[in-house]
This record gives sequence, structure tokens and C-alpha cells, in this order.
Amino acid sequence: MRYACIASAKGGARCRATVEKLGTFCSFHQKLKEEGRQIRLAPKPDVILVRFYLNLDRSQKLEMTGIPRRERLTEVEREEKHINHAKQYGRDPYRYRDKSDSGTPIFGKEGINDLFLSQTWAELKREGYYLTDIHLKSHTEKKDVLVAALNYKASEIPLSKQILDELDQLLSSCWGYVRVWADPPNEEGKVIHTVNSSFLKPDTTPQLSLYFNHGLWAIEPP
Ligand SMILES: [Zn+2]
Repeated sequence: MRYACIASAKGGARCRATVEKLGTFCSFHQKLKEEGRQIRLAPKPDVILVRFYLNLDRSQKLEMTGIPRRERLTEVEREEKHINHAKQYGRDPYRYRDKSDSGTPIFGKEGINDLFLSQTWAELKREGYYLTDIHLKSHTEKKDVLVAALNYKASEIPLSKQILDELDQLLSSCWGYVRVWADPPNEEGKVIHTVNSSFLKPDTTPQLSLYFNHGLWAIEPP
């Protein structure tokens, strides 16, 4: 697997170059460092969006616990938003896939397999990230997405025991594919990271745990 370089690139975005060893600089940033230039590490996020892609049976069960459903942007609106954001940072919006992106995939565009997030969630709380919003959105005809937004040093929204139990179950489940994206600062200067969890594997024991690692992210056996 290739990992994202840990340096901050133009405008405080995470460098898009990849490295073989987790937690290292790409050859470009390594060379600058050796020349005595000061290299900044990629910034910690202000907001972390933890997203779970779910089948409709599961999302309807969540909706019945009182989690609100929100409208999602249209495909065209999303593309436009990503393309503009990428261009603002001099980035190719189609570098990774035929859908546009402005950010950097931390664990490559393929992501990590068989991971669980309970430990990650606890670490984020210790680091001062609190749940400020939770909602459902439609994704495709067969899939919905549950979005949990964590904000740095914000006040946490109260949730019913039923919702907390459902959330606990999702966090402790094994996810077949987890992709983590670090986006460049948005128009308000906020850095948003996204943890996309898909392909829920209820009968599989997770092999890896995701670590926040001061916003640089890492994976290790739990
Ligand atoms: Zn780099």
C-alpha cells in the first residue's frame, strides 16, 4: 500500500504525493528538508465526517430511532463544488477517479480493508472532537449514508440511548473498505477530513484499527 506524504502542501492542503512508509515525507519534501527548509506537517482537521454506507434496511432502522434525513446535493452540484475547490489549490480534480476530488486520500484511493472504528472514535473524543450532527442521506437507489460530524472543541449534541447503541454497533463492526480523505481548507479556512466506511461485514473479525495520530492518520492491529 502507498500512503500520503505527511507534509503540508500549498495553502495548507495535505501533499498528494505518495510514500511507501507510513508517516514519512515524499522525495520532494524530503529534499527540501535536507536543504534546510522548514517543512510543516499537514494540518489537523477542524471537522471530521465519519460516514457509513448502509443498505436501505439498515438505514431505515436508523431513521426509526429518530436520526433525521437530509437532502444531498445533486451530482452536478457536488462535481462543481469539488472541481472549484481543487482548482483553487492548483489540483487536478480527476487525479484519482472519474468523480472529482479536491483532497488527498491518506491510504491510497483503494483504502484499507477489514477495519473497525471503536478505538478511533474514543481517540477522537480524547483529542477534543465532539459529535455535533448526525443525519442520513440517500447515496444510490440501494444505499444510504449515515453522516456523523465531529467538530474540534464544540459542544456535543445529546443523543438517545437507542441512537448511541446503534452508533456503537456501527463503530465496532468490520468494514470491508475504509477510505480517509484530507481536504484542503474550505472557504472558511476549515480543514475537513472524511472517513468513508463501506461494505459492512457483520461476520468478519476486523484486522486493523484506524488511529487519528494528530490528524496524520495511521493503521495498526487493534
Ligand atoms: Zn510531499
